[in-house]
Amino acid sequence: MADRKAPGALAVVTEPDFEALVIGAHPDDNDFGAAGVSALWAGQGKKIAWAVMTDGTEGSEVPSADASELMLTREQEQRAACEVLGVQAVEFLRFPDGHLQNTEEARRAVVKLIRKYRPRVVITHDPTQHIFAPDPDEKPEETAYLNHPDHRATGSIVLDAIFPAAGNPRSYRELLAEGLQPYRVHEVYLFGSRQVNTYIDISSVIEQKAKGLKCHKTQFDQEWDMLKEIKEWGAGTAKEAKNKKGLEMEYAEAFRRIKLYVPKAEKAQEQES
Ligand SMILES: [Zn+2]
Repeated sequence: MADRKAPGALAVVTEPDFEALVIGAHPDDNDFGAAGVSALWAGQGKKIAWAVMTDGTEGSEVPSADASELMLTREQEQRAACEVLGVQAVEFLRFPDGHLQNTEEARRAVVKLIRKYRPRVVITHDPTQHIFAPDPDEKPEETAYLNHPDHRATGSIVLDAIFPAAGNPRSYRELLAEGLQPYRVHEVYLFGSRQVNTYIDISSVIEQKAKGLKCHKTQFDQEWDMLKEIKEWGAGTAKEAKNKKGLEMEYAEAFRRIKLYVPKAEKAQEQES
């Protein structure tokens, strides 16, 4: 452990500003994974920020489509969705879609966001989930879901940015001059995980979640009944919450919740109770 009383030692900020920073690989990933919890918390008056790692330029079936036009259109769609959900800020890091790597540049960009918004919770993709495949003998009609490499890269970049870099006074020291102090994230919520331990009741904001997703007009057929789909998915997650934890919810979102830092006052309370 480094000496916190050494001459010139810089205190790490632990007081959050935003409640949550949600970081997804593509425009619409945050909408699927965490629009419910974002709208719920925003509705409680908490500050929520979203970030998108890539430029979204591979999100089209048309090879000749203009890349920068598609990028700007998708960013507008994402902004519109954030407005529906009450998300206060949205950032686009514009790394190339389909080619995201856990590089120095990517980690640094995420450290900057974490130090800027000082979120109590960071929400992102679970980087450890690669293959979601049914047993072909048990479910011969079902196909596998291979998790997108950008999703896995995003999860890795974000976790590596959270620890140790965002909270280490000697990491990215050039950021100190920009007023970006080292900051310690309290919790991480991972979506797209198979190690779920936390269910959030999103019944009161299910319409908002569907309405936000519908803003991504380049991605979904407008004929598609988004509300029906999202309700079915949310109800399936709620059923899981009932089976696993005995929770009663109509619609839910599921996360793997990881606590990294517990403020002292809260720790004392937990020990008393
Ligand atoms: Zn995606």
